[in-house]
Amino acid sequence: MDTVDAVVIGAGAVGLACARSLARAGHAVIVLERALAIGQGVSSRSSEVLHAGLYYPADSLKARLCVQGRVQLLQLCQRHGVAHRLTGKLVVATAQQQLPALHGLYRQAQANGVTVALLDAAQAQALEPEIDCLAALWSPDTGIIDSQGMLLALQAELEQAGGLVALGSTVVSARLGQMHHVLQLADGSELACHLLVNAASLHACALARRFQGLDPQQLPQERFAKGSYASLTGRSPFSHLVYPAPSGAWLGVHLTLDLGGQARFGPDHEWLDSTDPDQLDYRVDEQRLQAFYTAVRRYWPDLPDGALQPAYSGIRPTIYGPGLPAPDFRIDGPAQHGVPGLVNLFGIESPGLTSSMAIGDMVAACLAA
Ligand SMILES: Cc1cc2nc3c(=O)[nH]c(=O)nc-3n(C[C@H](O)[C@H](O)[C@H](O)COP(=O)(O)OP(=O)(O)OC[C@H]3O[C@@H](n4cnc5c(N)ncnc54)[C@H](O)[C@@H]3O)c2cc1C
Repeated sequence: MDTVDAVVIGAGAVGLACARSLARAGHAVIVLERALAIGQGVSSRSSEVLHAGLYYPADSLKARLCVQGRVQLLQLCQRHGVAHRLTGKLVVATAQQQLPALHGLYRQAQANGVTVALLDAAQAQALEPEIDCLAALWSPDTGIIDSQGMLLALQAELEQAGGLVALGSTVVSARLGQMHHVLQLADGSELACHLLVNAASLHACALARRFQGLDPQQLPQERFAKGSYASLTGRSPFSHLVYPAPSGAWLGVHLTLDLGGQARFGPDHEWLDSTDPDQLDYRVDEQRLQAFYTAVRRYWPDLPDGALQPAYSGIRPTIYGPGLPAPDFRIDGPAQHGVPGLVNLFGIESPGLTSSMAIGDMVAACLAA
């Protein structure tokens, strides 16, 4: 049986970033990825937004890692010429009862050390003339990024540091030990490693349940939520991202732009009954478009009939259920589960793309301790 120093399961943004950080810390790292290309999972179905870190409770992992990861991603973009743009974003209140949430968000952003400004309706309309709102929060540090370019840059830095990615390599289970762990792969082979990071996202909980030597009682229950997008046909009148005032754990149907300036709306939020990551249906149901028109017209009343088309969808790898507040990222290291040399990553939903490099550094530090 071959032995490597460190294995990361999953070549999405988070797995690649973890592997990069471990390789830069001097470990020989291999990333095992079941697909035949990197970034085919949740990372290829996001809004591609570089979040500034407004929403998350102060001192949470989401707040801290988003703020830190955003800076690291911008530096990665500069080093590798990855396309990105700091578009800025408006969070808009369109009804009196949303004003407390907007002011709450202002205070939360300030507590997180994120630059924001409260705007009145005229100031918001000076930025986006088509927007109808009572007040808005302006976040100049929010932007968009070419996520595929970002993944390639992470892979390049991983390989520069001596790491490698093995595609078409599905991990089925593992036997965990005090000195090393033994992975079973779908082709029947086994691989031993001293350090193991489970960054399998939608598959992470199910996979961890197949790790012998880990207390199953400590594992979270996965629950998936689909987010569908609608694209705007024709030219977008917007040059900034526009979000409704948040309600509950969901950011609401927002307007994002791609780097070509094309606008899309979403993701909406639909709890799925299935927790089987291999049985997910990514098709966008045209029936959902009516709710998009209603939601978007609250802040863009002139959205023309027939202007929205079904686009794509992504599935959130959540570890909570309907009606509950979104929990923090779960980064379970030896201090949490007692198994040396193992980190499980659970519930790495938004802002996971933005936070990925900071998550990578935290995982490497956790395994160095
Ligand atoms: C709709 C939506 C919109 C989002 N928008 C944003 C946004 O705008 N900004 C932001 O910061 N974040 C956003 N996020 C969150 C962000 O996309 C994710 O947090 C991030 O991409 C997760 O990366 P990952 O590497 O953990 O997962 P993934 O990209 O899913 O990678 C996991 C990898 O593991 C592989 N794998 C699974 N099981 C195995 C196995 N047994 N063996 C080997 N390989 C395996 C999979 O094939 C996959 O490639 C969004 C998420 C969703 C769902």
